[in-house]
Parts: sequence; structure tokens; C-alpha cells
Amino acid sequence: MSAVTATRGLVEVHGVRKSFHGVEVLKGIDLTVEPGEVVALLGPSGSGKSTLLRTINHLETVDAGSVTVDGDFIGYELRHGKLHELREREILQRRTQVGIVFQNFHLFPHLTALENITEAPLALKRLSKSEARELALGLLDRVGLAEKADAYPRQLSGGQQQRVAIARALALQPKVLLFDEPTSALDPELVGEVLDVIRDLAKLGTTLVIVTHEIGFAREVADRVVFLDEGRIVEQGTPDEVLTRPQHARTREFVARVL
Ligand code: ADP
Ligand code: MG
Repeated sequence: MSAVTATRGLVEVHGVRKSFHGVEVLKGIDLTVEPGEVVALLGPSGSGKSTLLRTINHLETVDAGSVTVDGDFIGYELRHGKLHELREREILQRRTQVGIVFQNFHLFPHLTALENITEAPLALKRLSKSEARELALGLLDRVGLAEKADAYPRQLSGGQQQRVAIARALALQPKVLLFDEPTSALDPELVGEVLDVIRDLAKLGTTLVIVTHEIGFAREVADRVVFLDEGRIVEQGTPDEVLTRPQHARTREFVARVL
């Protein structure tokens, strides 16, 4: 048996390194997210925030280190003491533990809101069509879009599309939900409705990692703020510690610029 489980985080990122074309953009990331915790990941453009989220979901492979969610390696299995990438089908199965919501919604344009939500559960879980439909209607109701089940993405506002994307991410009942600048592509008047949905998820105890430039929102919902710069975690702590009393020059510069 390996170490005690009591102190184990829900998400454990250990020593993750990632390069693109010889340029290292993640330089040894260690991050633990506890069950029910809301982590806001902040940092300048190009600091590696999206890449880090994508490694947690295995949308990017890692060059070194590992990511586990609830004890399972995401995208990899341990064989003879080494990590080997899983086969596509197994990657998809294991990835269901980690939901992700992107800046640009990424809905399937040729599917209705309801079909966008049922697609993955039908493919990856043993659900009947009617069970999947029930699940999707419940989730649409939760994001305030029960009446939009049969609408296509082009018939929805950006805020509504993003709420469908959140419902879609929830449909696989992930253990953690990742948000990559979920409101950055929205007109200002549509930001609030999406933040409201994320706030509700936080209140329900959903484990969240949120990349956002909405500093006020981060301060309000996050249990912990993690500041990333040039591929390293420079500083982390409570919102007050990091945003009001930053210790590092890099964090101070960033906070001064965005506040
Ligand atoms: P952030 O989300 O903090 O703005 P990213 O993780 O998107 O930062 O990017 C970090 C760095 O990695 C940037 O220099 C970016 O250009 C580079 N990068 C990200 N994805 C790729 C990719 N698929 N191919 C090449 N370079 C990439
Ligand atoms: Mg990004």
C-alpha cells in the first residue's frame, strides 16, 4: 500500500514539465487541489495557464511528471514503475473524471443544445437515449436553459452557449471541472449569467480550477489563488494573501496591472 489517503488531494499535479518546439512552458508544476476546493489560476498571458489545464485533462501529454485525479493517472497507466500513455478509448474513459470548459464554448454546431449534452454520455456511459435525455434536461434546467433544449448553438447568445457548454461538461459527472477563461469571449452584459452558474457550482461544493481575468470574481469564489508566471507557480494562498498582500514582485506587478 502506498501513502495515506487522508491527505491526498483530489487533483495531484507532480513535477509537470512541458515544452513546445524546445521551449519549456511548464517548468515543474506541483499543484494539489482538495475535494470541494475552488482554485483560481491567475497569471500573465503566455505564462502556461491553458497548457497546465490541458495537461490535467490530458489534452496535452506531459514531458515529465504526472497528473492524478482521485488516485488515477489521467492519460497514463503505471507499468513496471513507468508511466505509459493509455490507448485512445481508455484515455477518453479516464478523462471523463475531468470536465473542461473553454473560452470559445466549442459546442458542436450541427447538434442542438440537448444533443451537445447527450453526445458524450451516450458514447461513454451505459445510458439509454431516454436516460441521457432526462440527464440533459435536468442539467439545462440547472443552468437556466430548460426552454432551449432544441435550439442550435447559432440560435443562442454567447452566454447561453457557454451555459450549455457547462451543462455538457457536467453531464459526465466529472470529479473536477476546469474553466479556461470562460467569460473572456463574452460581451460584458453576458458575463454575469455565466459567473452566476459557476458561483452556484462552487456553492454546491464542486471542485473547480478556474483560469480567469475576472479578479473580483476570483477573490469572491476562490478558496485559493495560484499565480503562475513563465511556467512556474510563483505564489499561492488565500485570495487576500495573493491579491491584497502579494509577496513576490511578479505577483505585485500583475495585481497592480489588473486591479
Ligand atoms: P496562457 O494560457 O497562460 O496564456 P498558454 O499555456 O496558452 O499560456 O501558452 C504558454 C506558452 O506556450 C505560450 O508561449 C504559447 O505560445 C505556447 N504554446 C501553447 N500551446 C502551444 C502549442 N500547441 N504549440 C506551440 N506553442 C504553444
Ligand atoms: Mg490561456
